[in-house]
Amino acid sequence: MDGKLRDNDISHVVEADRAHVWHHLIQHAAWTGDDPKADPRIIVEGRGMRVWDQKGREHIDGVSGGVWTVNVGYGRERIANAVRDQLIQLPYFAGSAGSIPGALFSEKLISKMPGMSRVYYTNSGSEANEKAFKMVRQIAHKRYGGKKHKILYRDRDYHGTTIACLSAGGQDERGAQYGPYTPGFVRVPHCLEYRAQWDLEGEDYGIAAANAIEEVILAEGPDTVGALCLEPVTAGGGVIVPPEGYWPRVQEICRKYDILLHIDEVVCGVGRTGTWFGYQHYGVEPDFVTMAKGVASGYAAIACCVTNERVFDLFKDDATDPMNYFRDISTFGGCTAGPAAALENMAIIEEENLLENTNAMGDYMLDQLRSLQDKHAVIGHVRGKGLFLGAELVADRATKEPAAEKMVQAVVADCMANGVVIGATNRSLPGFNNTLCYSPALIATKDDIDQIVSATDAALTRVFG
Ligand code: PMP
Repeated sequence: MDGKLRDNDISHVVEADRAHVWHHLIQHAAWTGDDPKADPRIIVEGRGMRVWDQKGREHIDGVSGGVWTVNVGYGRERIANAVRDQLIQLPYFAGSAGSIPGALFSEKLISKMPGMSRVYYTNSGSEANEKAFKMVRQIAHKRYGGKKHKILYRDRDYHGTTIACLSAGGQDERGAQYGPYTPGFVRVPHCLEYRAQWDLEGEDYGIAAANAIEEVILAEGPDTVGALCLEPVTAGGGVIVPPEGYWPRVQEICRKYDILLHIDEVVCGVGRTGTWFGYQHYGVEPDFVTMAKGVASGYAAIACCVTNERVFDLFKDDATDPMNYFRDISTFGGCTAGPAAALENMAIIEEENLLENTNAMGDYMLDQLRSLQDKHAVIGHVRGKGLFLGAELVADRATKEPAAEKMVQAVVADCMANGVVIGATNRSLPGFNNTLCYSPALIATKDDIDQIVSATDAALTRVFG
């Protein structure tokens, strides 16, 4: 670590943080005592795959900034320089005006998304999803007298933190205390074969899981269902890679009932799974694609809702109707730093062949984690796509009883204490927050992966024996 700490009184920073910052996702009681080990963790600096905390301790980052975001790794001066130059030229202008990086990034993004055509800029992944929900609702009002307004979402998927996104949320513990919810969102079953709901395997299982969506559509009435919103690979709900056969059948069902397909690529988007977008593994043709985290690797806040021309056309087919446009704005959709950073981010992925690296290193990491499974009975199932992987921990392989949450957290904490950051899935369902997750930057090497896997190995031995 070179420097920044010397410029600050770090104990003052820690105290300011302890006194005034309300951190995401944690219970604060542990930080109010006198135990110095309970200090808030402050990450001070990052380079490549590594970060340093306030005590100067080095960590290899196995989760790209905590939540699967910093796809191109830390310390990318060319992104910082592009953002700096753009901020000096023009930081912001919103309303109905565009910007140079906004136009150029849209063009670049669409070049990677055959069949799609329009980019609507927003502030966050949740908001990008809300835009798609609003478009679906507006189409329902415009075309179907408001009737075709329901939005289907899947058990264990997550689409964001707002009340509407939580209404479309398949992780019950995340939403449990924030009702009442927005009506018009309907749940369909998840497709995780390891936790099977049908006595079938492989492709047959995938088709059955998709057919379960059709059953919900028929029960609700196809003329009331406007859209289906799915993650390509479920992230926080347990790193769920859909079985063969699932996606083609999902597409068929959407076409059969004239249901718009919304794919939430907030996690998988921009390289994470080894293709530009997760849905591109499966030959799917979506109507909406939302994205956020990896778009600019966290160097600037940017998210967007991308649509095809079929959707866009519905908002401009009658210029004489004053209601016939998308009555929506995002204040920070007018920031130029986001698309300026996103352009460089994509150029880095192309120039450094990071999609190829993601596929090669993803396969390697999957193999390494599967070898760990031979050694540790507590690993019930390993799964993943590209550099997005999970290892589900169970108390008993035969019954698949989930490992206790405290033990899973102890594995994460042990890795952290030994300089390796890994994650565990969020509280998706009681007892199901038992999947260790890994999403190193797309620049990861075999050595990096070996370090992450061997820290997991040692932690599993220490925690489970
Ligand atoms: N969709 C998915 C699949 C996510 O994982 C997340 C965030 N973890 C969101 C949407 C919401 O994104 P944001 O936090 O940027 O609002």
